[in-house]
Amino acid sequence: LQPIHVVGGGLAGSEAAWQIAQAGVPVVLHEMRPVRGTDAHKTDGLAELVCSNSFRSDDPETNAVGLLHQEMRALGSLIMAKGDANQVPAGGALAVDRDGFSQAVTAALEAHPLVTIERGEVAGLPPEDWSSVIVATGPLTSPALAEAILSLTGEKELAFFDAIAPIVYRESINMDVAWFQSRYDKAGPGGTGADYINCPLDRDQYEAFVDALIAGDKTSFKEWEANTPYFDGCLPIEVMAERGRDTLRHGPMKPVGLTDPHNPDRKPYAVVQLRQDNALGTLFNMVGFQTKLKYGEQTRIFRMIPGLENAEFARLGGLHRNTYLNSPKLLDSTLRLKAMPRLRFAGQITGCEGYVESAAVGLMAGRFAAAERLGRALPPLPATTAMGALINHITGGHIETIDEGPRSFQPMNVNFGLFPPVEFAVKDGNGKRLRGPAKAVARKRALTDRARADLAAWKAAQ
Ligand code: FAD
Repeated sequence: LQPIHVVGGGLAGSEAAWQIAQAGVPVVLHEMRPVRGTDAHKTDGLAELVCSNSFRSDDPETNAVGLLHQEMRALGSLIMAKGDANQVPAGGALAVDRDGFSQAVTAALEAHPLVTIERGEVAGLPPEDWSSVIVATGPLTSPALAEAILSLTGEKELAFFDAIAPIVYRESINMDVAWFQSRYDKAGPGGTGADYINCPLDRDQYEAFVDALIAGDKTSFKEWEANTPYFDGCLPIEVMAERGRDTLRHGPMKPVGLTDPHNPDRKPYAVVQLRQDNALGTLFNMVGFQTKLKYGEQTRIFRMIPGLENAEFARLGGLHRNTYLNSPKLLDSTLRLKAMPRLRFAGQITGCEGYVESAAVGLMAGRFAAAERLGRALPPLPATTAMGALINHITGGHIETIDEGPRSFQPMNVNFGLFPPVEFAVKDGNGKRLRGPAKAVARKRALTDRARADLAAWKAAQ
């Protein structure tokens, strides 16, 4: 059998290489460290954790990343096995001894008879005689490879800066205050003329909001990020607010073309718009609200917006260096580049976010590539599982936006907003209607129970 080549020995590449080898297919894993470093990695170990040492919640019943852990364990994940073996105390979270973890992953791959590890940069398009390649080079992909990918995808489809606006769970928005409407009721392709959720501010509310943005605690740029200028359309809102008190009102918060049905006679002074972010309509992103405010500050300040008093965030905003593809457009359902199907992508470069998610996408990319090499069909993962929901988000579940401006596909952690809705009992054992947190927990349990059943059925069908 011809080997499969995996480029990048991070979280995704290490997991992909392991899955391929475990399927009985030879694999060559190319890692450029220590020959060439990145701005964040500090060692030459595979699967190095560049920042925190946490894999986040390990609760598979009511937490989406905990469910992802469980699914990955069920599919023989190397990253989870070595994470479990190197666990350090962290309450309900799975945190690991970073050096012990990375050394254990490296040792397992070095010891596998079907794995060859080559240290060196793949400094351009992988050679043509590599008939199956997984590119898992992460957010800090080396410039030479990034440029080669750019030549295949076009400039607009590979981002270097990740300007992330917060994403809100639709069900947490107060529709007694907010309303659905597109500016001037304009219906774009596939739109209805009521595609946005609008939150109105009066003058006092706007002034207080601008003050809070300016005073809010911000995170600072890393040294290498500070030298990269802001892209047009990616200015953080607090920077806009600092440029003039009316800048936001004339920019992303302009109140034109909208009528508040709750108060038709009163024209809002400013409006925050939220745009549907996934095909299911469960997640909405705050249009133009990329920010470098600290997470706690974002929650506090954005809840000042009428209609978002109780907003729950699927992810908060941010702005950092991150190389990632416009995957919904560029990749097929098995993570192959449509323009060059011998190349598959995995990890954060596909537009997932986080150590565990990157490894999960690596796990699936490895399985897809191995099945292809062995001439076997691999049925698609059910979108009701955490792994399936994540792959679905990357390869198709995300809707293209209908207006101009920066593209809206954004890296995302796994979260329940990516899962199709589920039926669940809304009454407890005594026939009392569930409300608030109890109802939310019941919903999460129903989602994770369904995921477990569907993953088991998928495995049984192999
Ligand atoms: P990586 O783990 O970065 O692996 C990519 C590998 O490819 C690297 O080993 C690199 O050396 C190698 N490589 C790159 N180019 C080439 C090439 N041309 N040839 C050969 N090898 C190459 N996520 C979290 O969950 N928690 C955090 O705390 C966290 N902090 C982060 C902090 C920073 C500064 C960054 C940039 C990201 C952070 N992330 C965090 C996000 C993300 O989950 C991690 O970056 C994660 O490691 C991504 O996994 P990956 O396998 O896609 O990439």
